[in-house]
Amino acid sequence: MAKVVVIGGGYAGLACLIELAKKAPKTELSLIDGRALHCKITNLHKTFAQPVADFQVPFAELAERFGFAFHRHRLNFTAADLISWQQTKKLPLADRELAFDWLVVCTGSHPLLQSHSTDVHDISDLQDGRGPQLLERWLSEAKTRRIELSFVGAGATGLQVLFELQEQLRSKRGLSQTDLAKLVGVTPSTISQVESNLIYPSLPALLKMAEILAVEVSSFFQEKANLANRVIFSSSEAVDIKFPDLPDGSIHAKLLTPVDFEAKAEPFILEIPAHQTLPGHFFIHRGEEIGYLLSGKLQLKLEKSVSTARSGDVIYLTSAMPSQWKNPGPGIARLLWIKIK
Ligand SMILES: Cc1cc2nc3c(=O)[nH]c(=O)nc-3n(C[C@H](O)[C@H](O)[C@H](O)COP(=O)(O)OP(=O)(O)OC[C@H]3O[C@@H](n4cnc5c(N)ncnc54)[C@H](O)[C@@H]3O)c2cc1C
Repeated sequence: MAKVVVIGGGYAGLACLIELAKKAPKTELSLIDGRALHCKITNLHKTFAQPVADFQVPFAELAERFGFAFHRHRLNFTAADLISWQQTKKLPLADRELAFDWLVVCTGSHPLLQSHSTDVHDISDLQDGRGPQLLERWLSEAKTRRIELSFVGAGATGLQVLFELQEQLRSKRGLSQTDLAKLVGVTPSTISQVESNLIYPSLPALLKMAEILAVEVSSFFQEKANLANRVIFSSSEAVDIKFPDLPDGSIHAKLLTPVDFEAKAEPFILEIPAHQTLPGHFFIHRGEEIGYLLSGKLQLKLEKSVSTARSGDVIYLTSAMPSQWKNPGPGIARLLWIKIK
């Protein structure tokens, strides 16, 4: 059996492991990462307002879900180490040697600007959950003097962090959307759509594009107005959904159509990890709901009776809503769920 070891469980490393698990299920897969938690790094800009835990998933959970072994270890290596490992086909960890046929290095790129100054920050500050403290500090200093924040790097990270910060500073300072719209020179509705994540990418990028193309910013949003006529929605338009009343990590869900698509049915993909119990129904809803269990097993409690649904079964809720859901294991339960308004 071929052995593949991936170093680094960021976007590249996980994509590699997940694809290999799907396409070469007989491969023995291992992941090495210095952290215990995978961080959804593209959401880091939101940590000014939300705890970083909202964007983290334990590698152990991903390992169980996708069938790879996880070793928590930060490897310090040079090009010479890579050559030597390649010759021996063995990787030295703290407590063992890991044999491999293929080694994939996905350790990402680290910020070039690293400083221990209290006034210079990089994304590791956000990754460690320090966003809210930084925001509070800047707000309190701004009461007595004009503070200036400079961003180095105008890629996706810099622009998203910049815009998120602008929005947070605006709302915490009590500036209305109309005030900001006047300052930026756009309509309040544009600001509102950007803040509701209906417009992507960031406003500075859109403004720049509008300037370069000599068009109104609104021309970028025409697709939204035509949503009602759309018949196909791509997987990239799916939106992560949160269930604040259910325990963290007990369910993962995606709404498969854009949030502003007005229709009678809302399709979701719901995933409940093995051995998780939900102390209530996913939605607070009185209409009908239909589910198709794509994989795994689920027990649902309706009044006092408990029923078990298996892969391929349909669950049709007309009025009564389950008071408990449980995945008895061993695998993850995946449901296609349709909520009728
Ligand atoms: C706020 C923000 C917004 C972004 N938005 C977008 C966007 O909208 N679109 C887009 O395309 N890109 C975006 N990006 C960029 C995107 O996130 C990165 O390009 C992507 O994460 C790179 O993936 P990676 O797997 O190469 O590295 P990373 O995701 O950085 O993963 C590296 C992994 O390797 C581990 N590691 C590092 N060194 C070692 C070591 N020596 N030993 C063991 N493990 C190690 C780390 O712990 C980490 O888990 C954004 C980034 C940020 C920060």
